[in-house]
Amino acid sequence: MNACIFCRIVSGEVPSSKVFEDDHVVAFMDIAAVTEGHFLVIPRKHVETLYGLDSILAGHLMAVTTRLAKAAKQALQCDGMNLYQANEDAGGQEVPHLHLHVIPRYKGDSFGIKYNPTKPPREKLEESAARIRGAL
Ligand code: AMP
Ligand code: ZN
Repeated sequence: MNACIFCRIVSGEVPSSKVFEDDHVVAFMDIAAVTEGHFLVIPRKHVETLYGLDSILAGHLMAVTTRLAKAAKQALQCDGMNLYQANEDAGGQEVPHLHLHVIPRYKGDSFGIKYNPTKPPREKLEESAARIRGAL
């Protein structure tokens, strides 16, 4: 038995309320929706995090997510929308099968992501940018 809950949703072993599926991705409602209409978009293939995603699948996942987000906006008449994607424990990932959250937002809803903004000096921003560029 596959231990991955999302692989089991893909195979139909575990029930889900599907929004969309094709040969490469599946979208289904989040069982613990944080707002009305919250759903997840996942690759069929078991890829744990964003780091394991190839650019073709990444492009398709994003194209499908964009299409579904537009449909959700029209169908639910929400006031806004967030995309959220978590990687690794430190990133808040609970299910180790890559997923994109699509979270419709409504004025006054209770969903929120807490940020603690800092004000790094320009030299620090330049240093971080250079380190990331260096790994490309
Ligand atoms: P994350 O913290 O980004 O890994 O989010 C995992 C998400 O998967 C949570 O929002 C859960 O509510 C959702 N989830 C876990 N199990 C199921 C399930 N069987 N069906 C639908 N959503 C699920
Ligand atoms: Zn999986």
